[in-house]
Amino acid sequence: MATVMIDLKRLGDVKAPAGFADRVLAQAGMADSYAVFETVLGAVYVAWNRLGVSAAMRSKSAAEFEAWFHKEVGRRLVRVDAPADLAEKIEDQLEGTRRLRFDLRGLTPFSQAVLRKTLEIPRGQVRPYGWIAREIGHPAAVRAVGTALANNPIPYFIPCHRVIRSDGVIGNYGGGGPEAKKNILTLEGVQLKRLQELAHAGFRYEGVRSTKVFCFPTCYHGRTAKERNIVHFHSEQEAYAAGYRPCKHCRPAVVA
Ligand SMILES: [Zn+2]
Repeated sequence: MATVMIDLKRLGDVKAPAGFADRVLAQAGMADSYAVFETVLGAVYVAWNRLGVSAAMRSKSAAEFEAWFHKEVGRRLVRVDAPADLAEKIEDQLEGTRRLRFDLRGLTPFSQAVLRKTLEIPRGQVRPYGWIAREIGHPAAVRAVGTALANNPIPYFIPCHRVIRSDGVIGNYGGGGPEAKKNILTLEGVQLKRLQELAHAGFRYEGVRSTKVFCFPTCYHGRTAKERNIVHFHSEQEAYAAGYRPCKHCRPAVVA
């Protein structure tokens, strides 16, 4: 008995390494880990837990990222060394060759639906806010879609930058303003100038004469068509009236 008491006393004297308690919490799923990763977009702070990536931001400093995370997500955050396998997965995710898992627990079901739908937009393409609203079954909630995207806690990874206004205006971007949004879209191969010229002319859809299918202008479906084989429409009604049907890939209108 005496020996046990002494052992317990000694145990109490052992100092846990710095940050030990936080790391235990992180391993138990009660805190998120985070690290800074060098990416094609520059240094990005990324937080994750057992369910997946929970936040990302191009913060100026660790302190700024932590403050933002506490405000937006609210869980404990523990800084760790960037795991090499995650660095690789992050690179692949940004290049569009892999899909990471995401932890969206803290968000409303509506915001989660908006962000999951946004994940379906392929790299190199864009969709209007109204497309997201319609696809998730809330066609009138365009403004709320904009709010949910502006508050996306995992920008770049969940590509809210691929959602733009139907009039061609790039729109706000929580990940660094409209200029950052333009830069990322250009990096992904979106021809912004062409897109904006079409939008200014009032053209929202692009059809291919030979197939009689109409698309959003960035859809791959029509990309191989020769310029003379392409026709533009102001509205889906105009496309229907000309005998065109909506593309099954980009779904520019409800497929009847
Ligand atoms: Zn299409």
